[in-house]
This record gives sequence, structure tokens and C-alpha cells, in this order.
Amino acid sequence: MESRGRGPRPDFLHVLRPFIDDDDVRAVGETLRSGWLTVGKKCIEFEEALKPVVGARHVHVVASCTTALEIALRALGIGRGDRVVTSPITFTATAAAILHAGAEPVLADVESDTGNLDPAKVERLLRSRGKIRALMPVHFAGHPCEMDPLLSLTRKRRLLVVEDAAHALTASYRGRPIGSIGDATCFSFFACKNLCTIEGGAIATNRTAVDRKARVLSLHGISRDAWQRYSKGGSWRYDVVDFGFKSNLTDVQAALGLSQLAKLARMQERREQIAARYTAAFAAEEALEPPTVRPHVTMAWHLYVLRLRPECLRINRDSFIEELRRRNIGTSVHFIPLPLFTFYRKRLGFSARAYPVAMDFFKRALTLPLYPSLTDRDVDDVITAVFDVVRRNLR
Ligand SMILES: *Cc1c(COP(=O)(O)O)cnc(C)c1O
Repeated sequence: MESRGRGPRPDFLHVLRPFIDDDDVRAVGETLRSGWLTVGKKCIEFEEALKPVVGARHVHVVASCTTALEIALRALGIGRGDRVVTSPITFTATAAAILHAGAEPVLADVESDTGNLDPAKVERLLRSRGKIRALMPVHFAGHPCEMDPLLSLTRKRRLLVVEDAAHALTASYRGRPIGSIGDATCFSFFACKNLCTIEGGAIATNRTAVDRKARVLSLHGISRDAWQRYSKGGSWRYDVVDFGFKSNLTDVQAALGLSQLAKLARMQERREQIAARYTAAFAAEEALEPPTVRPHVTMAWHLYVLRLRPECLRINRDSFIEELRRRNIGTSVHFIPLPLFTFYRKRLGFSARAYPVAMDFFKRALTLPLYPSLTDRDVDDVITAVFDVVRRNLR
């Protein structure tokens, strides 16, 4: 392996980056020149191509994962008066989608190793709070939640399951692809997610009626989509049968999605290699806790979340991030727990003290660069910088 010696990296390394190649540019260009820009054939082709990846009978592509979550909730009849259990370790979009659907998000604390919803905490919440209609597990960083224990809780109480799989495209739980398990599963194709359509999302479901309803809701509540209306043999006549959204994906985005899908396996393989390189380096250092991967899951490696062991270090996470930045290594923190945000505290009364495991997870976590275009040398620069900061700050 090449070595640059002991000096710091000369240029700044970003923590997240989209991966776009010439094939993607060509696919977008062809669709731009085709004369059909927005929802049409390419969206349908993209939906068909996603089905085997997520293992669902139906896939509907939409403008974002945020809107996918809201539409999925509405398509399942979840709304006013209903409560939906989700995780404090997630992006604000998860809870906001629940609120937009008219329901109320309630939080259960997480597992200390994966940062995913803890089935035992969910069970306690289900016993103590009424009106809970659904669970919205978040597969944090691409590591699937413990779906079997969660499903045994929901089956007993006839609760619905809408998964936030924004990080979890290609993940699987006990051999079952994420997308094939819950009543509906929502994916994100945002720029920096594992598959990019710039902005975009999808709803996967095995329930035909839910797919039908989601399709109507995502395009103004109109009973047929624009593709059918404007193709030869289509009709000008349509009905508005529901109070819908304007949340479709476009054919230009779907063309990008199809092109990305063609190299998804390669991109995932690279993510896995990078994660393995990090973990091999960090596993022996007492001050560092690499991410857990349970033996019965396939991890989608959207994020590499390293955790610090504060008892071993003289600096906290925030200073650690600052030290890495000085060494030209970009990092981030996923996620600032929802109870720390003004809006959720004021509107829903969320309090950080109620979620001690999530708070501990947050205080020790930092996200390292992980995306397919990282070179081995980039990864080694990150490892070198992390060890440099650790060694200078050991207790
Ligand atoms: C990115 C993200 C979303 C939102 O995805 P969009 O496609 O940007 O709407 C939702 N949940 C989680 C956990 C995310 O990371």
C-alpha cells in the first residue's frame, strides 16, 4: 500500500458524497432528450426493477422518503387520534411525516449497540399508552431493527408497521429483504443515500390495496396517473377520488435511479469493504467502539457510526470531531435525538431524560466518511487521523 508518510491529508475529505458516473449522466441526458420528462415509462421501469431488490409485490416511487412515509401512513388509514411509535435516533422527517399524516409520534428508547428501537422498550410503551396504531421502526445506519420481536408485539395488538428504510436499501433480516416485512416500507433516494435520484423515495408493500391507495394519493388524488392520461389510447377524463399530494417522481430521476440500480451491487460491495477496513483497524483500540453487525442481518452500510468510550479519553465527542476536522477529515453526527429539538420539546413535550440510551448513543457517536468513491488511501487517512487523535488524548 502507498503511504504518504505521517503528514495530515492535504485536502478536506467529505463525510457524505453522491456517487455519479458517466453512465448516470448519459441516462439522464437520454431521458431529457426523449421528450417525456416527468412521471411516465421510466418511473414504471424503475418500480419494476426495485421489486426484486426490496422483495415486495408492489413498489411505488415518489418525490422523497418523507412524503413516502406520510403517504404510507395515510394509505393504511392512520391519522387523527392515532399514535405511532418511533425512535428518538432518527432524522426529523420520520416524526414530521407522522405529524403531517395527522397522527402523534411517541418515542421508545433504543438498543445500546445498534441504536435501533428496543423491542422491550416498545412493549413497555404499548402497555402504558393508549391509541397506538402503528410502529415506525428506523433501520439506523442500514442495520435492520429486530423485526421478529417487534412483529410479535404488533401481531398481538393488531398494530400496523411502516418502516423507515431510508438507510436500508439492500439490507435484510433473517434472510428477508427490508421491504418485504412490514405493511409498508419507505426508502430514500436522496443525493447521499445508497442509491441516488437527487431527491426521491419509494413505498414498498405486499398489500395491493395499500399500493393502489398510495398511487392515487401521490398524484392529486386522481384516479389514474398522468402516464395513462397522456399516452396514446389514454383519455382526457379523470376523477379526483381522494385528497392527494403532488409527490410523484419524474422520469428524469427514474432514469438516474435505473442507472444507479445497475451498479448498486458494486456500490454496496465497496461500502462493505470500507466498513470492514475501518472495523479491522478500530476493533483492537479500547477507546473506540465500531458499529455492531448482528449475525442474522445483512447491513446496508449507509453510515459508519463510530462510538467513543469516554472512560478511555480525555476529550469528548465534540472535541474529537474538531480534531478530525483540523486533520481535514469530515465527520457528522447521526442523529441529534428528536427530544433535543425545540419544536418536539414544545409541541410534543419530548424530554431527553426519558431516553437515556439514545442520549448516551448520541453523546459518543460520530459518523465517518463512507461512500463508494472513497479510495483505500482516503480510508487509511481517516484511520490514521482517528488513531492520532486517540493516542494524543488517552487517559
Ligand atoms: C434521509 C432520511 C429520511 C428522509 O429522506 P428524504 O428522501 O430526504 O425525504 C427519512 N428518515 C431517515 C432516517 C433519513 O435518514
